[in-house]
Amino acid sequence: MRVLVVGGGAIGMLSAQRLAEAGLEVRLLDQGPLGQESSWAGGGIVSPLYPWRYSPAVTALAHWSQDFYPALGERLRHETGIDPEVHVTGLYWLDLEDEAEALAWAAREKRPLEAVDIGSVHQAVPALGPGFSRALFMSGVANVRNPRLLASLHAALLRMPNVVLEESRAATGFVREGGRIVGVSTPSGDLRADRVVVAAGAWSGKLLATLGLELPVKPMKGQMILYKCAEDFLPRMVMADGRYAIPRRDGHILVGSTLEDVGFDKTPTEDALASLKASAEALLPALAGAEVVKHWAGLRPGSPEGIPYIGPVPGCEGLWLNCGHFRNGLVLAPASCQLFADLLLEREPIIDPAPYAPAGRIG
Ligand SMILES: Cc1cc2nc3c(=O)[nH]c(=O)nc-3n(C[C@H](O)[C@H](O)[C@H](O)COP(=O)(O)OP(=O)(O)OC[C@H]3O[C@@H](n4cnc5c(N)ncnc54)[C@H](O)[C@@H]3O)c2cc1C
Repeated sequence: MRVLVVGGGAIGMLSAQRLAEAGLEVRLLDQGPLGQESSWAGGGIVSPLYPWRYSPAVTALAHWSQDFYPALGERLRHETGIDPEVHVTGLYWLDLEDEAEALAWAAREKRPLEAVDIGSVHQAVPALGPGFSRALFMSGVANVRNPRLLASLHAALLRMPNVVLEESRAATGFVREGGRIVGVSTPSGDLRADRVVVAAGAWSGKLLATLGLELPVKPMKGQMILYKCAEDFLPRMVMADGRYAIPRRDGHILVGSTLEDVGFDKTPTEDALASLKASAEALLPALAGAEVVKHWAGLRPGSPEGIPYIGPVPGCEGLWLNCGHFRNGLVLAPASCQLFADLLLEREPIIDPAPYAPAGRIG
């Protein structure tokens, strides 16, 4: 079977790898360079930001992925020499409004979330700012160095003889034969395949619109800033008021993020820079004296309730989706791509695929 994957972010590349491992001929197409859009721009927290606020559908994918991430990181490092740096730090949520709901969810889901004394947070994170009074801690939460995850996936795909990677080639529409999708059109000619997979992130809705289908996936801009500190400056991830600080192993600290509904514009703005710096300094006052070494924006694939679309498109035989992961595409990637491959290859799926089925969710 020949499969064409449109989109080379974390979702497209990991889907391609899962299918190629099963022996399929895979061609992966990206309109730009591979792995430079949302999957590059994200923070890489291997958890939804407030996991208890999501539906069981998101939780099921998140939990499967969280368990799988350390092995994925190790395997990619071993295969390619590029370490995605799955960094287990745990995560503190400060002054939450819905602590009771969070703790009830954790008890139900058997996740290690506990209320802790604020003094113990200051001990664990000496750089934490004043003014916080309550905290929840979840041990075991990791972050992944997503640009390295992508570089590593790219390198792994390059080593597979049954994978063809094409950068700077956009799918501009689909090739149809009767009710069947048999390929995509591109500015340099049509490409044919037995299955076409749309893993085009924030652009997925736009691409489906060429078939007259309304897929509610749209860009939601997020901006982020980066600092470089001493390696031991921030031993845990911390989060308050929707903003978070993520430590990489080498002392880089990411602070994010904004959530903006402004279409496909991903220009970083001065307003966001000022607002992110204010959040960074409230969390970690020492950052007031530190230089922002990078500031960028990415386009999340926004979807209703953040529930991705995984599976075949009804009425368009041959067309499949793996997109719409919104704020959680990095944490959800391993489970989403495994589930996707299970469905396409007609294997027993890792989890119930019903909540993610495109059927009934596309206009
Ligand atoms: C600031 C920010 C912080 C985030 N933090 C986190 C986090 O901490 N944890 C987490 O789990 N998630 C996080 N996310 C969300 C996560 O980054 C996304 O959900 C995820 O990266 C989506 O992956 P994707 O592969 O679907 O999309 P992308 O990475 O955007 O990849 C889509 C690819 O498709 C290509 N493409 C699009 N249209 C076409 C076409 N017509 N033809 C060919 N190629 C095409 C694009 O060029 C792109 O490379 C964050 C996102 C942002 C922006």
